[in-house]
Amino acid sequence: MRLAVALQADLQARAAEGLYRRRHCVDSPQGVWLERDGRRWLNFCSNDYLGLAAHPALRAALQRGTADWGVGSGASHLICGHTRAHHALEEELADFVGRERALLFSTGYMANLGVIAALCGRGDWVVEDKLNHASLIDGARLSGARLLRYAHNDATAAAARLAECGKGRRLLVSDTLFSMDGDLAPLAELAEAAHNADAWLMLDDAHGLGVLGPQGRGSVAQLGLDEDAVPILIGTLGKACGTFGAFVAGEAALIETLLQQARTAIYTTAMPAAVAEATRAALRIVQAAEDRRQHLQVLTAQFRHGAQALGLQLTPSVSPIQGVLLGDNARALAAAAHLADCGIWVSAIRPPTVPVGSARLRITLTAAHTAEQVERLLEALAGLRTSYAD
Ligand SMILES: *Cc1c(COP(=O)(O)O)cnc(C)c1O
Repeated sequence: MRLAVALQADLQARAAEGLYRRRHCVDSPQGVWLERDGRRWLNFCSNDYLGLAAHPALRAALQRGTADWGVGSGASHLICGHTRAHHALEEELADFVGRERALLFSTGYMANLGVIAALCGRGDWVVEDKLNHASLIDGARLSGARLLRYAHNDATAAAARLAECGKGRRLLVSDTLFSMDGDLAPLAELAEAAHNADAWLMLDDAHGLGVLGPQGRGSVAQLGLDEDAVPILIGTLGKACGTFGAFVAGEAALIETLLQQARTAIYTTAMPAAVAEATRAALRIVQAAEDRRQHLQVLTAQFRHGAQALGLQLTPSVSPIQGVLLGDNARALAAAAHLADCGIWVSAIRPPTVPVGSARLRITLTAAHTAEQVERLLEALAGLRTSYAD
């Protein structure tokens, strides 16, 4: 059978299940308002939590960065692509999250693949929350270690899984703030479970960094968990920091090991130095952005209060990520279409990104939104409620 014929059948089956994914072409910079299809859309689906993605200081830093460093980095970090700009960013990131060292990766996806596969292999054990980000699951698969999964946010279940592990290394891995539910993992309990089982704890703070903790230092800093409790800390730079890339932070021995063994750091071109410069500018803003974080909390409370009053079923979120649970895929798609009719852009999240039967709207608030805009979102959601009165 011709390739296209074989694939077409699969694509049609996917579409029939309401699982077809498609992109939209955006004609404007990121922000509260996006241009698409010749219209303006009120954006409630980006991860640009602090509204920095198009910030003038970041744009200027990127431009200065290209003037100073050009565009391409020329090679991987280990060959000749590791500039003074990358190095300074690594030092600033380590300092930001209170760790000895940090190592840059091109993306969070690559960081998670590279770190887990560098630390574990055949004969080792990786224990993960059932709702962990796909990159954490894929990292365990790639490593060849045995993967055991536990019920979402259940530290007792995590401890039970750790007790099942045999000889070999044990790595306990969790998101901090879950990307589709917005709830926070029981970090201190996970640290204790790891400690008791002689396992290492790896936390992915992609959504907490910049949003939670003193000066936005993340959920791990918020709880005061140090390098002993959380020896492997992942952060991403494409969300609250508004740029691109990711890093892992920890002790020097971890970073040196990753430099030798993390294949997604070794066999890939270094990110452009100008992007590192833009991220350095972002970090300075993030640390001083107490007003933005405060505003974000106020908007989050406003949204939850309003949505609950409408009788909508929300995920138990403590963050700007708010899930409106709708159940089946068709309902989630219809809800997103209803909001689109109101000029609001929110994405319907379906399996396998979330468990079957928990399709939802994933609404994200940012510090750039106003209370009036959140009110407009709630009004649109009120219309949804009537269209589904069952
Ligand atoms: C977004 C995300 C990643 C991936 O980061 P990228 O830099 O976008 O590749 C990893 N982990 C979690 C929890 C995420 O939400």
